[in-house]
Amino acid sequence: MTKTKVRFAPSPTGDPHVGGIRTALFNWLFAKKEKGKFILRIEDTDQERCDETSVKTIRDSLKWLGLTIDEGPFFQSKRTTLYKKNLDKILKSGQAYKCFCSKERLDELRSYQKNSGLPPRYDKKCLKLKPEEIEQRIKKGEKYVVRLNIPKEGVVEFQDVIRGKIKFENKDLDDCILLKSDGFPTYHLANVIDDHDMEITHVIRAEEWLPSTPKHILLYQAFGFEPPKFAHLPLILGRDKKKLSKRHGSVSILQYRKDGYLPETLINFLVLLGWNPKTEEEFFTLEKLTEVFSLEGVNKAGAIFDLDKLNWLNGLYIRQKNIKDLADLGNTYLKKDYLIIAKKNKIDLIKLWQMAQERISTLKEINTLCDFVFEDIDYLTEILIPKKGSKTESIQTLELVKMKLEDLGEKQFEADELKQIFLDFIKEKGLKIGNVLWPFRVAVSGKRVSPDVFDMVSLFGREKTINKINQAIDKLSNL
Ligand code: GLU
Repeated sequence: MTKTKVRFAPSPTGDPHVGGIRTALFNWLFAKKEKGKFILRIEDTDQERCDETSVKTIRDSLKWLGLTIDEGPFFQSKRTTLYKKNLDKILKSGQAYKCFCSKERLDELRSYQKNSGLPPRYDKKCLKLKPEEIEQRIKKGEKYVVRLNIPKEGVVEFQDVIRGKIKFENKDLDDCILLKSDGFPTYHLANVIDDHDMEITHVIRAEEWLPSTPKHILLYQAFGFEPPKFAHLPLILGRDKKKLSKRHGSVSILQYRKDGYLPETLINFLVLLGWNPKTEEEFFTLEKLTEVFSLEGVNKAGAIFDLDKLNWLNGLYIRQKNIKDLADLGNTYLKKDYLIIAKKNKIDLIKLWQMAQERISTLKEINTLCDFVFEDIDYLTEILIPKKGSKTESIQTLELVKMKLEDLGEKQFEADELKQIFLDFIKEKGLKIGNVLWPFRVAVSGKRVSPDVFDMVSLFGREKTINKINQAIDKLSNL
């Protein structure tokens, strides 16, 4: 049996986005499930559109997600001799031909076809050129391209692993360019030669490439190569069912890393963009996926990209992390100034993450949720007063809280213990929980929305907490 071999074949034209990486993931999972190989091929034949940093970001993105490369990267720009050698064979057999038509002629042809309601097709004019004429024109230095000679009649049929039988009529296909006038192959030529040469068994790519597949099949036939199996992945759509764009959150994968999403979240999120586990299960690790993933489970219908779901999922993965790992990774997201302050003031960063773990959906949010730990927040005095409370009551409660804190030993500043002590205290004084905890929490954080008060007090310790309460009492007294 031939060994399964798949490829991820991006064009290096910018940072890889969600769609491209979803393709990489599905290829990788399929390779691992089938105990095959996953190769990286950089399709850089369109030199004008290539971006030098792109290969690095492609590799970094794969690495970040744990998608290891078995072979490659291979660069098509370094393999042009192979493409030309193969192309010569089909030029000789007449399955490809040289075309000298100028841009002006092609533009004219297109506008004529457009105005007459005809589909845009090259009219095979240069197919009629005699060999001597071709030679002469080349000698004169005229530029030409090489086109695939698609028979006018007939059909191309193939079996798509995801979509079943697909049929295209030759009359709907254009004699596409295989070699450009700069001597570089086009995507069609390089892609087919490489998939054959690299012994790719399955071409798993996005639906947008489906219209190219009949041309590729005709090319395989022209070369006398056995085509691989094809699987075209469903489109990724925004919540408005339109093709995914920046507006829907389709940013580069590395931007998600910058914003504090975890790789395990992205894997879980991306795999569900088109793959259906056919169970109720929603959570999948990369390891688990290498056992359960299958192309048969991939849907034909477009997959909806839901940013809220991504945030929700990321929050869940953050909560699952052990606190030491979360702090180690999370600290790299803390603002530089905050890190300096943390070091100088010996702030316990494990406690910081413990405090935030339940409340953030991205690691970067630590900087807004917990800014009060590192900066003095100037807040409106009024927010210290609970909805049904008054200024005097709030002062009284804060005085009581302060007294209680002063009674406590340093050792009693662990969050759970503090909570119990204060709940007992509130009960004993016959007070309402909210009336005490609200001003207490706002006094410590300076915010309406903040982490749990006992987590904060535990982080600040007695002295700092009492200072903050004193400040709050002063503020209220001056109101
Ligand atoms: N270079 C194409 C891309 O940028 C590859 C398509 C394919 O997988 O055949 O996605």
